[in-house]
Amino acid sequence: MAQERKIICILCPNCCELDVSYEGKEILSIENDRCPRGLEYASEELFNPARTLITTVPIKSRNWKTVSVRTTKPVPKSRIFDVYDEVKKIRLRAPINRGDIIIENVLGFGADVIATRTVKE
Ligand code: SF4
Repeated sequence: MAQERKIICILCPNCCELDVSYEGKEILSIENDRCPRGLEYASEELFNPARTLITTVPIKSRNWKTVSVRTTKPVPKSRIFDVYDEVKKIRLRAPINRGDIIIENVLGFGADVIATRTVKE
């Protein structure tokens, strides 16, 4: 049986409000998409939703208590808390450079967790 869902595409500032009709793993129709990327986004969001994790981890440093980190690409939304649990285990010590890999290939999802700030000391 076909189902309907409204999805806001966030791939560009237009933020199109997509009206999507789908059945199983197939999109039957899509409306209000101003470009073909809307279909791609709706398909990912419906059938394989993923998110980039952005958080902070503790760091031993003279001036900072935490350093910001993120995944280098989205990880499955259904497993985001498992990724977060892995990140929570990390304790860093300065110096850390922006882009340093904190966890490589976290939980085998093909995404690294990297520092997004430099903390020199
Ligand atoms: S459907 Fe296209 S135009 Fe609309 S928000 Fe997505 S990327 Fe932008």
